[in-house]
Amino acid sequence: MSVLEFSDKSVLITGASRGIGRAIALAFCEKGAHVIACARPSDDLTELGSKLGPQGTIWACDATSEDILEKIDQLDRLDILVNNAGINRPEPFIEVSDKNLDDIMDINVRATFRISRHAVKKMSKGGSVVNITSQMGHVGSPNRTVYCMSKHAIEGLTKAMAVELAPEGIRVNAVAPTFIATPMTEDWFKNPEFMEFINQMMPLGKVGVPEDVASAVLYLSSEGANMVTGHSLLVDGGWTIQ
Ligand code: NAP
Repeated sequence: MSVLEFSDKSVLITGASRGIGRAIALAFCEKGAHVIACARPSDDLTELGSKLGPQGTIWACDATSEDILEKIDQLDRLDILVNNAGINRPEPFIEVSDKNLDDIMDINVRATFRISRHAVKKMSKGGSVVNITSQMGHVGSPNRTVYCMSKHAIEGLTKAMAVELAPEGIRVNAVAPTFIATPMTEDWFKNPEFMEFINQMMPLGKVGVPEDVASAVLYLSSEGANMVTGHSLLVDGGWTIQ
């Protein structure tokens, strides 16, 4: 059996309608998993549902809501959780509004914590949690104080959950990407100064694509990673090594 075989597995992915989450959903589907794809209602989410076909279940709800927790509580079982939903609103530290502070922490941190707390109760035969953090969960960068704070928080949560849930056979890891071409980054990549900054920082000299992140998530969720827990797998083109 291939280690990247998920045909008897059920996977919940938040923020699955676009970008990285969508690539993760399609990659698990291709490897035989049943995929529960969550995002707020949109044409993108409906289109993903058609693409997943009978291997997919669509949850059109907000990851910060009670609704998603109730849906999780009603599951018979869950094998894999991917906490991917997240936002970023880059701005200078001294200009950050309380609303942006609350919004980013609410989805990036609080929702990840609450969804995980409910989801692991459904992992009765062991399981895997993968948190999509960021290279910004390892380093700092201009105009990203709240985002960096939120992703560092999830790096800490990953380690603490990994220790506490190991006796239950639940592994908890993070994938920490660099800049990836998604709807989140589309406008930033149109700014030549920003691209110059990226080129200076990135030894591999290119931004990533969502599939680069999806393959790391599949590895960490697989049998091949059965001794890997509390790890943060940087998919960062070398950003953090210098
Ligand atoms: P994206 O293109 O903006 O997609 C974000 C996804 O999350 C969408 O499906 C969005 O759907 C969903 N989402 C946002 N708020 C939500 C909420 N409250 N409830 C449910 N779903 C919600 O972002 P991305 O670039 O793919 O990023 C995905 C993850 O990777 C994020 O955690 C991000 O921080 C992380 N990351 C991204 C990069 C990058 O360069 N792209 C780098 C490092 C880490 P709706 O808005 O329609 O609900």
